[in-house]
Amino acid sequence: MSIQTVGVIGAGQMGNGIAHVFAQSGHDVVLHDVSPEAMANAMQLISANLDRQVSREKISQSERDAAFARISTTEDIATLGASDLIIEAATEKEEIKHAIFKSLAPHLADHTILTSNTSSISITRLAAATDRPERFMGFHFMNPVPVMQLVELIRGIATSEETYKLLAGVVEKLGKTSASAEDFPAFIVNRILMPMINEAIYTLYEGVGSVQSIDTSLKLGANHPMGPLELADFIGLDTCLAIMNVLHDGLADTKYRPCPLLVKYVEAGWLGRKSDRGFYDYRGEIPVPTR
Ligand code: NAD
Repeated sequence: MSIQTVGVIGAGQMGNGIAHVFAQSGHDVVLHDVSPEAMANAMQLISANLDRQVSREKISQSERDAAFARISTTEDIATLGASDLIIEAATEKEEIKHAIFKSLAPHLADHTILTSNTSSISITRLAAATDRPERFMGFHFMNPVPVMQLVELIRGIATSEETYKLLAGVVEKLGKTSASAEDFPAFIVNRILMPMINEAIYTLYEGVGSVQSIDTSLKLGANHPMGPLELADFIGLDTCLAIMNVLHDGLADTKYRPCPLLVKYVEAGWLGRKSDRGFYDYRGEIPVPTR
């Protein structure tokens, strides 16, 4: 079986990047979101990102136009049913993801492979609520998708070897590299990364350092390309909190307790870059620390 048509659900930060890379590598992509505004924003962003690749001479104008023409949007999730591959990249809430797979179920072709871009939620549990756990897998892209090289491949307990091999081949076709992770809370990347970010937020909460000194310390003292608080804003503080909750609930260890300051920022709607305010305020010319 080969993958030609790809349905992407969720047109946020990840969905638009996933649509971009699949279209660029020759796939026909249909993008769906509950919010028409999110779909319009995603198309604008993809267009601007492709333009940037042309101006940096990474792709030609005709490749750019062909890639953009391969992406369409739909308000009707049923349109995605016949795709060879579906990638769910909606908000990191298990009930939202279950509802999406439930509403897709009556429209799916027999051969369709279902995947989730979840950062942390059990693939086995998501798969078990569908009619095809053997053709269900975790397909975890990194942000920003056009730039980041890694895709984590997570097999649920029932995922078939055929599905795994097919998706590993898709990653190669995208020019990216895969790493396999077992289906335990937050898999590999976020199991390691998110407790570090949470610890950086505790360091801020306890007054050990300011936003600036924490980010400068990790950038210049540990050679990280971004500071942990800057990175948290980039990922989205709601997503960071959701991942910490999955680690805390799933592994039942207090070392994963989400920092109360992270909870407070999310309750304020200060979700990072996507809402213009998080550990930094992005509304002016340069980001200004909020603490
Ligand atoms: P986001 O908030 O930017 O976008 C989520 C989108 O999902 C929104 O546009 C929202 O309207 C849409 N949505 C919500 N409910 C929906 C529904 N029922 N049907 C269709 N669309 C719906 O979030 P994001 O950062 O793009 O994250 C999406 C997924 O990708 C999450 O599972 C997250 O854990 C994962 N992920 C995020 C990152 C990251 O760095 N942000 C990295 C890897 C994976």
